[in-house]
Amino acid sequence: MLDVRKIRLILELREAGISNSSVLSALEQIPREKFIPENYRNQAYENIALPIGDNQTISQPYVVAKMTELLDLENTHKVLEIGTGSGYQCAILSKLARRVYTIERIKNLYKKSLKIFQELKLTNIVSKYEDGNDGWLEQIPFDRIIFTAATLNISDKIFSHIKENGIVVCPIIRENKQVIIKYTRKGNRLSSEEFDNVLFVPNLKGVS
Ligand code: SAH
Repeated sequence: MLDVRKIRLILELREAGISNSSVLSALEQIPREKFIPENYRNQAYENIALPIGDNQTISQPYVVAKMTELLDLENTHKVLEIGTGSGYQCAILSKLARRVYTIERIKNLYKKSLKIFQELKLTNIVSKYEDGNDGWLEQIPFDRIIFTAATLNISDKIFSHIKENGIVVCPIIRENKQVIIKYTRKGNRLSSEEFDNVLFVPNLKGVS
């Protein structure tokens, strides 16, 4: 049953404009239901965000697919994700990149995601429990950085953590809407492109 729903979701994402076949194939490979509390599992392949406890949500599959597509990943890439949440987005990244470093500020979610990564044998993920806004200094530079919680603006410092031609994808709060911004670093210059009106949980400071 889940498989039929999964195929339907993949088609829906294609229709919504996701065209990168490796991204779609990663979404096909990773079992989203594993990242979702039991009482919501029957909705795992609907194109909606779902609660994961601690007032957080697992992002909508379209948003996960879109942000992953914008990262333009290669299998040699070292990626940083800020906001592990359920771990789903990270698992998708782990199928497309060489290694993914992920940071979560809520201990409970950090622990839960770690277990699922082990269960699914996603051995190229390294995670930590911390406020991730300043990045992961011991591991710089990264090829790609992705924020999964919305914020008013990201620290300028983050841009010095990516390599030349590196990409940072981030949901930014603008007046009362949220947009996804893709920044590309070219030398000391940054170019930015703006995408879609979407909804994320807020990026908060400190740990809890
Ligand atoms: N990528 C996740 C999306 C989870 S929602 C998924 O696929 O499920 C965003 C997550 O970012 C939440 O778990 C929230 O606790 C976390 N977060 C918010 N601000 C953060 C910060 N400053 N540092 C680390 N994690 C943060």
